Amino acid sequence: MQLSIRNLSKRYANGVQALDNVSLDIAPGMFGRLGPNGAGKSTLMRTLATLQEADSGTATLDDIDVLRDKDRVRRLLGYLPQEFGVYPKVTAAEMLDHFARLKGLTNSKARRATVDALLERTNLAAVRKQKLGGFSGGMRQRFGIAQALIGNPKLIIVDEPTAGLDPEERVRFHNLLADIGHDVIVILSTHIVDDVSDLCPTFAVISKGRVILAGQPREAIARLGGKIWRRVVDREELASARSSLPIISTRLQSGRTVVRAYADSAPGPGFDPVEADLEDVYFSAVAGHLAPEPTAVAA
Ligand code: ADP
Repeated sequence: MQLSIRNLSKRYANGVQALDNVSLDIAPGMFGRLGPNGAGKSTLMRTLATLQEADSGTATLDDIDVLRDKDRVRRLLGYLPQEFGVYPKVTAAEMLDHFARLKGLTNSKARRATVDALLERTNLAAVRKQKLGGFSGGMRQRFGIAQALIGNPKLIIVDEPTAGLDPEERVRFHNLLADIGHDVIVILSTHIVDDVSDLCPTFAVISKGRVILAGQPREAIARLGGKIWRRVVDREELASARSSLPIISTRLQSGRTVVRAYADSAPGPGFDPVEADLEDVYFSAVAGHLAPEPTAVAA
């Protein structure tokens, strides 16, 4: 199974170019799609999930035309949208049963078995009779994955799943995603770099509607070898450092402000070389330091 996106573009009626000639090849496994808010991630996700139209370009899932043959795509698709509303007064088991019916599981015995297995798998069996309105953020997201997994989808799209989860819930959610299976394409859209570092062997960075980097995190990090520099700065210095130096990010570490810069050699006194990480890749790409590949395609 292979998802091929070619030259996908979308401009909203208000003139915002949300997707600008996006091309990507995505193979089974976890694929991370990183980008700042407003980059176009949700637009791309909704287009692939057959919920909105692109202006031009193509997307194919093996021999299926994703943009035209929507019914076939929907049978293979599991989708956890960013805004995932639930009926607060319905229990987890009832709601899953309802979704399973909508997905075409008409046999009640088979449906019951599917619902039980999914509740078990997402660690919600003990709360199957609880109303969804009382679920915590983490339980809700796990429920979201349970509904996305109904009918053994081959393409799973997960939009910003860990925003707002506490660390323990986030780990639990990661484990759940990691267990989905290797023959399934899982696209994880997020602005949280650590989610991609932890989970995704391939990824792309999207910014202002364009794919500005695609590949494997390890290779992308290797491209930054020797180019990332770190310095502690005083708060008063920060503004001038930002305007005069190639600063890509500012982090607080133990209450101190640490800036990281992208440069071929030390950008100024006090800078030490540091090992790059995926966050440096992300910020360098967004700042325009990493030249986009001629064809931004990840295998
Ligand atoms: P992301 O998911 O990366 O935050 P989105 O795809 O939601 O990005 O949005 C990309 C851009 O398109 C943003 O500038 C956003 O304001 C704009 N946008 C999103 N949806 C609409 C819409 N329905 N109408 C007009 N503009 C939109």
